[in-house]
Amino acid sequence: MSGAAPRPGLRDIEAYGAPQLDVPVRLNTNECPYPLPQAFVEDLAERVRAISLNRYPDREARELRQALSASTGHPIDGCWVANGSNEIILQLLQAYGGVDRAAVVFPPTYEMYTRIAGVTQTALIAVDNAEPWDIGSAELTAAIAMQPNIVFVCSPNNPTGNTQPIGVIQELAEALPESLIVMDEAYIEFGGKSALPLVATHPNVVVVRTMSKAFALAGARVGYLLADPAVIDDLRRVRLPYHVSALTQAAGLVALQHASDALAILDALRIDRDRIVEALGARDDLVVWPSDSNFVLFRPLPPHDAGEVWQGLLDRGVLIRDFRATIPGCLRVNAGTPEETGAFLTALEEVLA
Ligand code: PMP
Repeated sequence: MSGAAPRPGLRDIEAYGAPQLDVPVRLNTNECPYPLPQAFVEDLAERVRAISLNRYPDREARELRQALSASTGHPIDGCWVANGSNEIILQLLQAYGGVDRAAVVFPPTYEMYTRIAGVTQTALIAVDNAEPWDIGSAELTAAIAMQPNIVFVCSPNNPTGNTQPIGVIQELAEALPESLIVMDEAYIEFGGKSALPLVATHPNVVVVRTMSKAFALAGARVGYLLADPAVIDDLRRVRLPYHVSALTQAAGLVALQHASDALAILDALRIDRDRIVEALGARDDLVVWPSDSNFVLFRPLPPHDAGEVWQGLLDRGVLIRDFRATIPGCLRVNAGTPEETGAFLTALEEVLA
């Protein structure tokens, strides 16, 4: 007995597996290292107490979408929410990808585009992007020539930290008027320019954002989309009924009410990010790249081995992200609290000594 056979190709897709290890310093998934303030916790508790959990939630998540509309200035019928921006990406691929359809990505970039393209049986076209990872005219020409149905641009880009000019999105949108141009702005609060102004003039441009990073809400799973209302209507066709729970909607709403607290933390995170870039940049045995996000990509140089550096840090209680499979020899660390960043820098010095 070998068990049920899944659809062909499914077992070629690796399950997502960023390590979740119980170590003192976790700087591997770009989360906000600061807990939400007590006032947030109390407001959320009060809201949760008022929820009738015996009833389905508002399927349209109107209150949360109204709050997102108010905070972004984008009309409510163009605002959409889901369980993290990963679910938004899934819904976009379910609606605009699929069998006999293709998506372009510019690697190295966020790996879930490739993974979810596989899950939705969308063909994936990788237009490789070389260091310093700007999407230039050669990459644009190559992408446009493939006439894909979807294009994913991530800015600031994970894991490289650089941003793309908005002209890149505009050029794609105008050269591919029937294709969906997805701008992933998961880290936009940390730097870079938003493509949101283009959404009003180009109905094929959509902006994906998350509350997992700058809003310190990774545990609640709230992602959102700002798009033309016609795109939102298409997502209604693929979403599961009541896909965003009443608890998730409450968390998103309270987070928006406390947005000023969350955004006040951004400056502290930028300081720690820059501290990492500066400390690593002062060494001649590694390469570090500038970052407009909350994380930093770096490459230990020979005789150091990136895998050994990663393990050496873990042995000292510091978990960062191993990106060797994506960018040769590279590791990524996200900004922590000053104490966590300090622990990382001290451990790194020891490992490299
Ligand atoms: N986009 C990018 C570029 C990301 O880095 C991440 C999270 N690492 C996501 C989307 C998904 O985030 P979430 O599902 O938590 O909103």
